[in-house]
Amino acid sequence: MIAVVEGQPSSVKAFRSSIKEEKPSAAYVESIKARPLKPEGYGGFSIMESDAKANKPSMIPADLAVCKDCLKEVLDPESRFHLYPFNSCAVCGPRYSVIKATPYDRPNTSMDPFKLCSSCRSEYEDPKDVRRFHVQGISCPVCGPRVWLEDARGHRVAAADPLGEVGRLIAEGKIVAVKGLGGFHISASASDDRVVRELRRRKSRPSKPFAVMGLDLDVLGRLGVVSAAHRRLLESPEKPIVLVDARKGSPLSPEVAPGLRQVGLFLPYTPLHHLLLTGLKDHFAIMTSGNPQGEPMCVDEREAKDKLSPYVDFFLLHNRRIVNRVDDSVVRLTAGRPALLRRGRGYAPKWIELTTSIRSPAVCFGAMLQNAGAVGFGDKAVLTQYIGDTDEYSTSLELERYIQLLLKNYRLRPQDSTTVCDLHPSYPSTAMAERWSERYRSPLRRVQHHWAHLASVSAEHRIGGEVLGIAVDGTGYGDDGNIWGGEVLRFGTKGYHRLGHLEYQALPGGDLASNYPARMLASILSRFLSDGEIFRLYSTKGLLSGLPHGRQELDVILQQSQVAGISTSSTGRVLDAASALLGLSLFRSYEGEPAIRLEASSKRGMDRLVPRIRKGEVDVFDTTSLFQQLLELYRPEDAGPLAYSVQHAVGKGLALIALSKSRRNDVVLAVSGGAAVNTYLMEGIRETVRGRLRVITNVKVPPGDGGIALGQCALTDSGD
Ligand SMILES: [Zn+2]
Ligand SMILES: [Zn+2]
Repeated sequence: MIAVVEGQPSSVKAFRSSIKEEKPSAAYVESIKARPLKPEGYGGFSIMESDAKANKPSMIPADLAVCKDCLKEVLDPESRFHLYPFNSCAVCGPRYSVIKATPYDRPNTSMDPFKLCSSCRSEYEDPKDVRRFHVQGISCPVCGPRVWLEDARGHRVAAADPLGEVGRLIAEGKIVAVKGLGGFHISASASDDRVVRELRRRKSRPSKPFAVMGLDLDVLGRLGVVSAAHRRLLESPEKPIVLVDARKGSPLSPEVAPGLRQVGLFLPYTPLHHLLLTGLKDHFAIMTSGNPQGEPMCVDEREAKDKLSPYVDFFLLHNRRIVNRVDDSVVRLTAGRPALLRRGRGYAPKWIELTTSIRSPAVCFGAMLQNAGAVGFGDKAVLTQYIGDTDEYSTSLELERYIQLLLKNYRLRPQDSTTVCDLHPSYPSTAMAERWSERYRSPLRRVQHHWAHLASVSAEHRIGGEVLGIAVDGTGYGDDGNIWGGEVLRFGTKGYHRLGHLEYQALPGGDLASNYPARMLASILSRFLSDGEIFRLYSTKGLLSGLPHGRQELDVILQQSQVAGISTSSTGRVLDAASALLGLSLFRSYEGEPAIRLEASSKRGMDRLVPRIRKGEVDVFDTTSLFQQLLELYRPEDAGPLAYSVQHAVGKGLALIALSKSRRNDVVLAVSGGAAVNTYLMEGIRETVRGRLRVITNVKVPPGDGGIALGQCALTDSGD
């Protein structure tokens, strides 16, 4: 933004400092650059038209949750915005979800078709109206979008107050699709077991947790244990879903997050959601993404009616177009610090500054699951919002669509760019990047997965030079063709050295091993138990039920683990196998489920497992010994303390490798990867290096694969 200010030097100076001091809460001042101009004798205040040809790229703003003032108006019978579901002002409201092009001016948004009424126009034109002067999204019940209710067959339901009616329907046990800000939610009672089970049946979603929206902090406090740190996240302008410990004896149905200690809670972030929850007797409800399993969340009516009719009884619709799909963001506290699990609404697509400028623009395709792409230019990296699992075709199309949107907005030509993808040869995103690079004759760079993970951390913290790092992850293709995921690396922007890793274990059946943790467990146990001993263990501990073909399958796995095949040093697979052995999870119905259940069942206490490291040029953490110890100590009543010990020991062992390989001038330790959100594993790392290395982690992007594209951006110029 350019401001021309004329006046006495002291008042010009005061103006400058007031930019930072008096800015609206949601505004972000990146830097202020000033230069003197000849006085022109300006007499008043005016806002000029945005210059479409301006050279400086303008940041695409993220959506902002409704502010307190707007909500007050919505609840005030005297206000002209009373009960208006789309009320917004200068500091709140939709941005990215409604934007077609920058700058953020009304004609560039899906508010364009709604012509201002005279009241809105006079507020828009009044410089004294701090909340609505020149606010692009201004609208009211007279001139703005409207809501209505339909049944599953598309017939309108007459209701004077459609939002109140939805509240009543949900209280009655009905399931309703709700068109919101960045897409459709499916909403249902979160306290009625029968309803939640029915929703799970309709969505074929056996156990993946549902998020719950509650009217205010009082309501959320009845459902979960909300700490001050949780509260800050819940009430932030981003208003993400926050994972908190479920409260014992709370009115939440256990079916909402089966087998888990934590539940995802969030506050209403639009007046529409607020009014809907007000209409509910208990003021909370399930709000889960409205999509068929694996597919992107629906954004338009036709698509929603097509795809969601089998799941819902009613549709709450409105006539403001959702231009860009934005999923709710998800945050948790890991060892007391916020960690993003999903970067969507509120956060994306804000840009992130890189340590150094990259030479040519970058187009980055990320990894596979829970993916986001990115474009990079100069010292900026712009990640797309959370796209989803790009092994699903419809989702992978979205990745390309949003990359194109970023390129167009920042006026970058794919022909001038470098294409960056993961080293994994069979990721769909790799194939997309290959096609892209061919189509635009743009050079293709393949970046090792864990190098990218760790580079995302050093980029966020703007640390250059060589950095020591630990990647704790599920799956990443290694440069030796094995599947990596428990790695100690020394890395910079030019390359990396592998200093140590978790012991290689045979990976029986690739993806199958991820879906059935008992497969991975058998492979590890075969290192120190005979086939007969393993069979007896599987029969007596009920582990055979974790193999769809039972005994026969076990025989095949044990044979396979004797022959050389693909091996893995994955942290995720070790945690999965421990989860199976401790009887916590035998089937993965969503990404990370066995490890999440392991964490959920943990009881902090004594460290009962000793990590053993085999020293060498590359140190190896002996995970076979870890499972020997685990098996010796295992008693069902000790599952909790042992679950804790496994995660803690994995973190501790990797940290011991990092320490032994550290140099005098190492001061930080970067930690990233999908398992870097695991509290006990992170505690194991932090406690081990305390006083010697400062642990840095991802803050602005997820440590999981949703943050990979940032690392890819930072490494665009790598290798030459
Ligand atoms: Zn507002
Ligand atoms: Zn109006």
